[in-house]
Amino acid sequence: MNNNFRIYNTASRQVETIVPNEAGKIAMYTCGPTVYHYAHIGNIRTYIMQDALVKALEYVGYDVKRVMNITDVGHLSSDGDTGEDKMVKGAQRENKTVMEIAKYYTDAFFNDFDAVGNKRPDVIEPATNCIPEFIHMVEVLLEKGYAYLAGGNVYFDTSKLDDYYVFSSAVEKEALQIGVRDDVEADDNKKNATDFVLWFTKSKFEDQALKWDSPWGVGYPGWHIECSCISMKHLGEYMDIHCGGVDNIFPHHTNEIAQSEAYLGHKWCNYWFHSNHLNDQSGKMSKSKGAVLTVSVLKDKGYNPLVYRFFCLQSHYRKPLVFSYENLDNTVAAYNKLVKKIAELKNDGTKDDAVVAAYHDKFADCITDDLNTSNAITLLYEVLKDGCSDATKLAVIADFDRVLSLDLINAATASKEEATEVDSELEAYVLDAIARRANAKKAKDFATADAIRDELLNKGIEIKDTREGVQWKKL
Ligand SMILES: [Zn+2]
Repeated sequence: MNNNFRIYNTASRQVETIVPNEAGKIAMYTCGPTVYHYAHIGNIRTYIMQDALVKALEYVGYDVKRVMNITDVGHLSSDGDTGEDKMVKGAQRENKTVMEIAKYYTDAFFNDFDAVGNKRPDVIEPATNCIPEFIHMVEVLLEKGYAYLAGGNVYFDTSKLDDYYVFSSAVEKEALQIGVRDDVEADDNKKNATDFVLWFTKSKFEDQALKWDSPWGVGYPGWHIECSCISMKHLGEYMDIHCGGVDNIFPHHTNEIAQSEAYLGHKWCNYWFHSNHLNDQSGKMSKSKGAVLTVSVLKDKGYNPLVYRFFCLQSHYRKPLVFSYENLDNTVAAYNKLVKKIAELKNDGTKDDAVVAAYHDKFADCITDDLNTSNAITLLYEVLKDGCSDATKLAVIADFDRVLSLDLINAATASKEEATEVDSELEAYVLDAIARRANAKKAKDFATADAIRDELLNKGIEIKDTREGVQWKKL
């Protein structure tokens, strides 16, 4: 067990050593997708880096329980509870029911999620499964005086907290400005601009498909309440690590903390892990800019989804990453070269367990250093250059790949088989040419015999007549 796993905690704005609530165990929560549209490759970057975090924690000995929600109700187009309902909008766009949309995009999400080598969370819970839990939490918040009814909706009263801006960073203030600017309408029911909806009964949408009975009338939950309830349902009152994209920091995570800690009466989650954006040349990747670039689209264009994972792992999760096809093509070349090098290793020599263990520790040093996956990959190249036996190198690479999940050993085996196939095809061709040349010589047709020799030379094959017969080699 490595007790020095450090990550950047957005709540404290510094890199901290993780001290779990229960020794050896990590309770982790991940904000899942809103299944009204495809997840673009920027969303998938976030899930790749979270997957690396889970596997890194497991690599050094932690037992991780990870929970993720699926948002299939309640998420409006502005995270600040205004605008249109994302699910209703998706259903209208495609002339389907909300549940059909949810099913279709949930499947599409996991297709891409799995393709990039991610392990699925231990618990995956759609929001629509937990309506009684949401209602219970809203009731408690009303009883405790943290919530109020206005205009048919239940709101969380942010003025009841000593410190609402828990992340109290530039990020929150900046996001608030953007939120104010983007708001399509002001909600006059709110006592404070930062108050947020816990339960809607006055739907602004005629076609609101999903509605449930509640003590406040027929309605549906706000978005933020989901994550608080679903995490507590499966992880209890104390959580170690909460993950999301930097977009989630404000208002989503700020609101999750507000309502969870008001409900529990104590601190809820200790570490906040946020991955940065993926940008394309025109700026931040988003779904509103026309065609959505997904992992499936990359696959259709002939890219191996694991190459996209490799692309993401080469950069630090806290830095914005720029996507371009040129960058991806460079990664394809690097991945193929890496696999070829591994394919050249022969599974011979003795495996040196001491060397394997030493590399295991070095790798752990990289990934426990605020998940430095790019240093972990540099170490992989160092292993290939090491003077140790091939058997040792293969064992080390397989060990690293528990976290990297680049399928390196299988890819190398497949490329070896492909190379053998090419070799046997080439051999059949050369033997046939040698036989044709022998026949030509027998018939004293030396011009044809020479032409066959030249034909082989053009293909990079040299033949030599020896006393033992004709020998050939690749030049
Ligand atoms: Zn969430």
